[in-house]
This record gives sequence, C-alpha cells and structure tokens, in this order.
Amino acid sequence: EKYKEGMAKTRGSFSSKINDLVARYRKVDEDFFEDLEEILISSDVGVATVMELIDELKMEVKRQNIKDSQKVKEVISEKLVEIYYGDDDEAVEELNVQEDQLSVILFVGVNGVGKTTTIGKMAHKLKEEGKKVILAAGDTFRAGAIEQLEVWGERVGVEVIKHNAGSDPAAVIYDGVQAAKSRKADVLLCDTAGRLQNKVNLMNELSKVKRVIEREIPEAPHEVLLVLDATTGQNAMSQAKTFSEATDVSGIVLTKLDGTAKGGIVLAIRNELNIPVKFVGLGEKVTDLQQFDAHAFVYGLFA
Ligand code: GDP
Repeated sequence: EKYKEGMAKTRGSFSSKINDLVARYRKVDEDFFEDLEEILISSDVGVATVMELIDELKMEVKRQNIKDSQKVKEVISEKLVEIYYGDDDEAVEELNVQEDQLSVILFVGVNGVGKTTTIGKMAHKLKEEGKKVILAAGDTFRAGAIEQLEVWGERVGVEVIKHNAGSDPAAVIYDGVQAAKSRKADVLLCDTAGRLQNKVNLMNELSKVKRVIEREIPEAPHEVLLVLDATTGQNAMSQAKTFSEATDVSGIVLTKLDGTAKGGIVLAIRNELNIPVKFVGLGEKVTDLQQFDAHAFVYGLFA
C-alpha cells in the first residue's frame, strides 16, 4: 500500500502512456514498437536496456504470433521482470544481516542523495525487528552531517558514535566497531563521506575504512549499500558506475522514488550494472523505506 502510494507518479505516468499506446494501435507494427521505445526511455529505463527489451519483445511477438496490442501489454510486464532478474528468480534480495554476530553495513553515495535519512530509516526498521543498532558518523566532511545523524539517532532511539568534524573517518568507524562489539550490538550502520571529485581519492578512502572493519571482523562489511537519488536519472547511473569501480557495491538504495515519474531507473541499474536494488525510499518519514520487490514493482506499473 505504502509502495503503491510512493510509486504513484511513476505508475500513473507509465500506465497511462502504455494504455494510450495500446488504444492508439490496435495492430502491433514497427511504429508501435517505436512509440513504446520512447515511453520506456522517457521513464529512465536506459537506452541499452530498452533496446534489449524491444528486441526480446519483437521475438516473443513473432514466436507467439501476437497481433493484438492488448496482448503485448502482458508480454511487456513479463519481459520487464525477466530483465530485472535475469537467470536469478529470487523475489526479494534480503539484506545480509547475521543472526549470531555483529553485522556491519557501509553506506556510500554523494551528498544530498538521502544517505543520512536512509541510515535513520534503516536503523528504525532493524530496531523494529528486535535488533540492537548502533550508528557511526563516518561522514566527517559534510557540514552538519554528524549533527544530522545524531538527530536521527535520537528520533529512532539508537546510539551514535562520533568524532569531531574533519577527523579521520576510518578512526570513527574503528570506534564504532569497538562500541558495537562491547555493547553486543547486532548491526552497525556506518555513514561515509560522499566526495566524488576524484575516483582515486574515493577509492583510497573507502578501502581504508573497509580495511579497518575487516581487521576487526574478517567477513565484514556485510553490505556496502550505494544510495542513489531516483530523481537524478542518468546521473544516478553514472554515480553507480563510479562507485562500483571504486569499491564492491553489494546493493543499492534508491531514494526519492516518490518524487519522480521515472522509476524505470531501477531496471537500468540492475540490467546494466548487475547490482540489485535492495531498498527504495518512498518519502521523508522514518517508515518510508521499503524492501524492493521487482515483481510488485513491475506489476505495479501496470496496475
Ligand atoms: P545525504 O546528504 O545523502 O545524507 O542526504 P540527506 O539524508 O540529508 O537527504 C537529503 C534530502 O532528501 C533531505 O531533505 C531528505 O529529507 C530527503 N530525502 C531522503 N530520502 C527521501 C525519500 O525517499 N523521499 C523524499 N521525498 N525525500 C527524501
């Protein structure tokens, strides 16, 4: 329900365009596919993914000898789901959180995408599941980032480990791990700085933070979640490329999906970078973080 609400813009725009297309073309021809291509690209599905989808659709239409545009609509949703999952038919990609030991989750992403907000929402979610959560204020560079995380810590009722602004992020994360261990926490959520002027810098900083964590817990970090702003479209795609070259990104949190009609970016990210979208942000409230489910997402588009 929350999901439907948050996706209302993408859903409304996409389904009305598709319905309009189906109404305009009774028969499926080359022009139909061209118009469909335009609709998908305008929904930020991404050119490469759209081309792949159109090719597969054409083949399927031929194979099943489909003439009726209404029928093609059904095939479109099937193919979108296939594109998302590839060979892997996992319905939902679970967050890698251990039952019996401390799990460490790193959040990366550029300023303004909603990283701090996402950490706050995630802390709330995990706490609701009965987990003891601690936050580490590793973004020591952005003005106000530490204070903002503290506000979330108070709101959600979890401890925040911090140093002064400008200090070494790796030292904060180290202290976070120590605190989480000594307090027997289940999950440590680590904020990081979102500087992207220089890929080598970013790479060095992230690997230093990861080394500090690995030294304490060899199998950590359990997740490196890249936070992307859905409203930035192809910019989000290029950030995903840069970050995945700088570090091993295990999943994506796509924020502000409530503020865009271009939710198709989800499909492009998965298909072109092969990184699963694990969560979506659907608003500014503490409860507005949802586990991503591609079935619900795609079928929601046509609902
Ligand atoms: P950071 O710089 O990456 O830490 O970004 P912030 O967490 O400070 O978020 C930037 C702005 O985006 C804030 O005003 C947030 O309230 C807002 N924001 C974050 N996530 C969402 C979301 O899913 N939906 C909406 N509508 N706004 C969001």
